[in-house]
Amino acid sequence: MEYIILNTGNKMPLVGLGTWNLRGKECVKIVSLAIQHGYRLIDTAQMYGNEKEVGQGILNSGINRNELFITTKIYRISNSYEKAKIAIEESLKNLQLDYIDLLLLHEPYSQGPQMYHALEEAYFSGKVKAIGISNYDENWYQTFIRNCKVIPAVNQVENHIYYQKWKLHELLTKNGTAMQAWSPLAQGMIKLSDQDVLKKIGKKYNKTPAQIVLRFLTQRRISVIPKSKHEIRLIENIDIFDFKLDDEEIKQIRQLDKNDTLFTWTKRF
Ligand code: NAP
Repeated sequence: MEYIILNTGNKMPLVGLGTWNLRGKECVKIVSLAIQHGYRLIDTAQMYGNEKEVGQGILNSGINRNELFITTKIYRISNSYEKAKIAIEESLKNLQLDYIDLLLLHEPYSQGPQMYHALEEAYFSGKVKAIGISNYDENWYQTFIRNCKVIPAVNQVENHIYYQKWKLHELLTKNGTAMQAWSPLAQGMIKLSDQDVLKKIGKKYNKTPAQIVLRFLTQRRISVIPKSKHEIRLIENIDIFDFKLDDEEIKQIRQLDKNDTLFTWTKRF
């Protein structure tokens, strides 16, 4: 596993498990299985309704808590300072944890600054080791950091071959915020195995198109959180650190960028 050092000094794995759409017993099983296969970062959110199952999966894995990096997010139903404070306690309880490694504001909300104030307090008290945001574009981010005490450690955003966000990444890096890619495999909406560039590069390194895409992002020092409910893919998605793309290959993958979202719901921000 490779890591990125956050502005808090803590290290975050470059590959983690996404859990959106994993529910019930299947979620418990996949979280535990992923940890057994070497995953150390698990990404959940109050909005996914699976924090309890993620917590159970962690317990079932038998791993030491301090080896893991657990991320969750609070969202619009906690749209005030007071509600956000309560939400943080709920997440700790649901996950059966006494601290959270990374707590994010799920989306830019007009009440974001006061919600973030509750996150800052949890950070100062040690209940949360790092805090951050999600789905903030350049404008939202620049406004946000002008008004917060703690610069977000992470901005988790849509990032895949059709929406590569080079400009936002540069801005975040300049200000000490790490980028994390959600839907790094485009949620299956792009058929990666149909992409000639990925197939050609994959053949050279004996890797699948999905592995090439995940390597492309992690080589840019962008953390990825692919989700899979299949053991074989869990193994595949973390097996990406034994090769390095060269400059020409990076250039070729960069040319696939359409600089646009695949998810219309993000346009409302
Ligand atoms: P994703 O990880 O890009 O793609 C998941 C899809 O790809 C699933 O259909 C999965 O199918 C398939 N897949 C997984 N590994 C594969 C492989 N090696 N080869 C081919 N297909 C593969 O999409 P995502 O779940 O939307 O995003 C990842 C995580 O980011 C989420 O789970 C969630 O934790 C987070 N997220 C955050 C936000 C936010 O607003 N902050 C938004 C969306 C997502 P199988 O399961 O059948 O293998």
